[in-house]
Amino acid sequence: MSLFQCENCGCLENTALSAQGFKVMARMFDWSYAPNLKGMRICSACGPSQYNDGKSTEFGKWHNVFSREFYPLGEFVTDEVGNLKHAATGLSSGQFKKQFPDRMIEAAKRQEVE
Ligand SMILES: [Zn+2]
Repeated sequence: MSLFQCENCGCLENTALSAQGFKVMARMFDWSYAPNLKGMRICSACGPSQYNDGKSTEFGKWHNVFSREFYPLGEFVTDEVGNLKHAATGLSSGQFKKQFPDRMIEAAKRQEVE
């Protein structure tokens, strides 16, 4: 179980709540809603709402186990203990949020536009 950054929307996600990011078990799902997302590591909200056999998944919407927070897309990596780390500065996601509130607002705004 670890945290990662969704490669599509940039939010912080937990592997346990998103079918491991949908990458390993990609074959199981119906990607016709967004074929470009297949093979990417994505969050539960960006994930497929249907399996290949037509049955509904619990995904395609945010799980609400914790609140969805958007970070600058593509800037975070999973560290050796499974936490999210800002690649350029080495800051944890929590530290980044405190030090760069303007960048958090920017990342959230980008989501509203898309
Ligand atoms: Zn996402």
